[in-house]
Order: sequence, then structure tokens, then C-alpha cells
Amino acid sequence: MAEADTAKATRFETVIGLECHVELSTATKMFCGCLNAFGAPPNTNVCPVCLGHPGTLPVPNEKAIEYTIKIGLALGCRIAPHSIFHRKNYFYPDMPKNFQISQYDLPLCVGGHLDIEVDGETHRVGITRVHLEEDTGKTVHGGATGRIGGAEYALEDYNRAGVPLVEVVSEPDMRSAEQARAYLTELRATLESLGVSDVRMEEGSLRCDANVSLRRPGSEELGTKIEIKNLNSIRSLYRALNFEEERQQVALERGEPLIQETRHWDEGKGITTHGRSKEYAFDYRYFPEPDLAPLEPDPQWIETLRAELPELPAARRRRFQDELGLSAHQAGLVASSAEWARFFEATVSAGADPRAAANWMTGDLAALLRETHQSLTAAKVTPEHLAELVKLLDEQVISSAGAKVALAEAFATGASVDAVVEAKGLRQVGDSEALGGMIEQVIEENPAPVEQFRKGKEGVLGFLVGQVMKKSGGAANPKVAAELLRERLSGSG
Ligand code: ADP
Ligand code: ZN
Ligand code: MG
Repeated sequence: MAEADTAKATRFETVIGLECHVELSTATKMFCGCLNAFGAPPNTNVCPVCLGHPGTLPVPNEKAIEYTIKIGLALGCRIAPHSIFHRKNYFYPDMPKNFQISQYDLPLCVGGHLDIEVDGETHRVGITRVHLEEDTGKTVHGGATGRIGGAEYALEDYNRAGVPLVEVVSEPDMRSAEQARAYLTELRATLESLGVSDVRMEEGSLRCDANVSLRRPGSEELGTKIEIKNLNSIRSLYRALNFEEERQQVALERGEPLIQETRHWDEGKGITTHGRSKEYAFDYRYFPEPDLAPLEPDPQWIETLRAELPELPAARRRRFQDELGLSAHQAGLVASSAEWARFFEATVSAGADPRAAANWMTGDLAALLRETHQSLTAAKVTPEHLAELVKLLDEQVISSAGAKVALAEAFATGASVDAVVEAKGLRQVGDSEALGGMIEQVIEENPAPVEQFRKGKEGVLGFLVGQVMKKSGGAANPKVAAELLRERLSGSG
């Protein structure tokens, strides 16, 4: 492993470019009035247009064009004053027209960038283009394996056929799986903030193909690229790239040539397998779509959309640092998704100290979500819970150990933190009467440390407080216990 790492670091440089597809969350499809909805019964959101019946004509969805322009603007692209749709011809059952309406050499948005942060360093990834197309239907391969090979039959669901789909193509500017992961995370957060897509990778509303090649460091030329398909989570992207980096590394070291090909990621086995050799653009016989006029968005409309852009994740991170005092690391974690940022800001609005709120969110709360495979929105815990927790902890009504218990319980049941603290007896014992007896016992049981403290060895106090904490089963307020001990020992000394 160490050897491979050294080899990786010194012998080859990794080059990655991502092609991400985003289903837009418009009410209706791209070129017809069918509903654009996930999860409807198969073939219920279809019409002659999206089923490709002869004689039908496409009518572009204005909202989809608006969303695409917003994505382009958020990524710093130039919005083309003139762009056109093309037909990309190929034959496959998920596409009843036998062509996909897409964009080719004149896309709607060109030449932007997305800044990512990895290990505290900012890295700029170029965006080649952002274009608009239509999604295909969905094929389900039936039979024992559920896969194409050996399938007994295939079922087609055309509900997805014609759903507006945006493709965001990056420059080959990423140099590690970590950077690719950061890019996809940042892109997803940006799209989420724009409100243009559900960005649910598990449902396919955000999909990503990764292109990866290796080359000698210092080389300006790009190596033979492999395109990895079927990446439906950020984790899969990261794992697949790590695997592919290693596979190509080994092949090149052995002097085996790599061929340009498409490979599939097998999540279960953790490997990529050969898909097909690369197709070329001319295979698709692209030609301008004769049924659609060129897109020539009014410059004033573009400026209106630019003015409407919401706060983007990068700006949010900066604000969380500058105005709310979070560290760069904390801000990165909390502002990484609109969902998390909303929860965090609501917690702060409910009165919580921002740093404490961020710590609890990225620590215990994140762990609870991971363990239960829940999203923050779906979880029972609310910003009010967290604000109350931070407040009780700050007022020393509960200890941090007690707070952990209270959070886990509020997370599991949705009960108020106050109620949990009462029910579980988490309130710290802070009154001198209740603590007095325990303190007497501790003094009696520890004559040597007591003697040392009286002779001026301050450090021993911590040990004695610890003994009181132990006796109280963690319920004693350590500050009060320390004060009482000091009073008692100097009083009778
Ligand atoms: P194709 O014509 O095969 O689709 P493109 O030039 O359009 O190839 O690039 C597709 C994606 O692959 C882009 O995101 C680009 O940055 C990336 N890419 C291109 N060449 C390489 C390479 N040699 N290594 C890694 N990524 C690459
Ligand atoms: Zn339709
Ligand atoms: Mg391409």
C-alpha cells in the first residue's frame, strides 16, 4: 500500500473530468405538457409527443430554459446569445423517437468555473459547458439477475422520457478522487440552493459519469481516458475513482496499453468492468432539430435571472465564518448543503451559540443521522431541540455527557429536550445541600490528596472534583463541586 502510494505520487498524475446530468424539477416535461414527477405508476405521464408519435411537434418549456440559465450564471458561464437544439440519433428502446433532442456545438451556457475546497486549499475547476436536453425512459431488465446480460425481458417506463435534463461538463481539471468528490458535493449544493432540481442521486435526479486518465507528472498531454458510468452516489464516485486510479496505475507500470472505453462501476464488488469501446460523435449523426427555433434569450431576462440568484454555498461558507465565527472547517461542513445550512441558521435564530450549534451538528447529530440512515429533514430532531440543548448546557443545567444522552433521546423520540432532561434525571446537581454530603465523604475517603491540597497543591482539586462526579453518577455540577470543595477545605484548614 505504502509502495503503491509512493508510486502514485511520483510516477503518474491523475486527471479527472466529470459529466453530470441534472433532472430539472419543473412541473412539466421539456417539450410537452406531461407531468414531470418521480415515482408515478409506469407509463402514466406520457403523451404522443414524449412517446414520439409521428406528426407531433415539440414546444420548449420556458421554465427549463430559465433553470438552465440560472445554473449557467451560478457557475460563472457566459449565456450564449444564440444556441440551438440538435438531434442526437441512436436506436434504443428507452427512446421512442430514436433520437434525443440535445445541444451540440452551440450550447446555452459556456465557459464557467466552480471553486472547491480540499484540505483548506481552494481549487478552481473549469466548466466547459452547460446544455439542455431531454431525459430518456427507464428500462428495467427482468429475470433472475436484474441485469442486461441474461435478462429474460425488459420493461420500459416512459414517464421519464422527455424530462428536462441539464448536462454540466467540467474541464479535466481535477487531480484526485478527493477533488472530484468535493466538486460533486459543491455542484449538488449549488443546484440545491438554486432550487432547480431535487438533486437526489439515489433517485437519479443527479447522475454523474467520471472520466479519468493518468499521465506522467509535468506532461501537458492527456492520457487515454476511461469513462465510468453508473455512479449513483458521491461515495460511489470516490470509490470508483480510487479503484480506477489504481487499476490504470498497475496497467501502465506493467506496460499494458489502456484503451479508451466505457466502464461500469459495480458497487457490490467495488470494481469497474468493461462496458463498451468509445463511441464517437459522428456515430450519432447530429443535425439541427428542424422543429425548434434557435434559443435567443433576451439579455434583460438574463440580467433579471442573475439578480434573482440566491446565496450560493461558497458565499454562505464565507458568511458563516465572518459573521457567525465558525472555523473554515465547521463552515465547510455546515454550509455544504442547503438543508444543513437551513437547520443551522434556524438553530442560531432560536438562540443557540453558532459555534456550539455547529459542533453538535457535525459531531453527535451527524453520527446519529449516519447510524440511522436518515436525512436531517426527515429526522425528528428540530433546530428548537438543538437550541434548547445548547442553552441548557451553557447554563450548566446539564453536563456535556447529559447533553449527549438528551440529544440521542430527542433524536429517537422527538420529545422536547426539557422533558428528556426531567424524565432521565439529567439535571445537574448544583445546590450545596445535595452535594454537601458527597463532598464530606470524598474528603474523608481521600486524606492524602486533601492534605496535599491544603499544602497548596492546587492541581489536586481536579482529582477531588472527579471523585464527587463519580459519587453523583455524573450528575454533580463540576463547577459548583469545585467551589464547595475549595470553601470547605480552606474553611476548616
Ligand atoms: P467525449 O468527446 O469523449 O465526450 P469530451 O472531450 O467531450 O470527450 O470530454 C468529456 C469529459 O471528459 C469532460 O468532462 C472532460 O473534461 C473529460 N476528459 C476529456 N479528456 C480527458 C482525459 N484524458 N482524462 C480525464 N478526463 C478527460
Ligand atoms: Zn408527454
Ligand atoms: Mg462529450
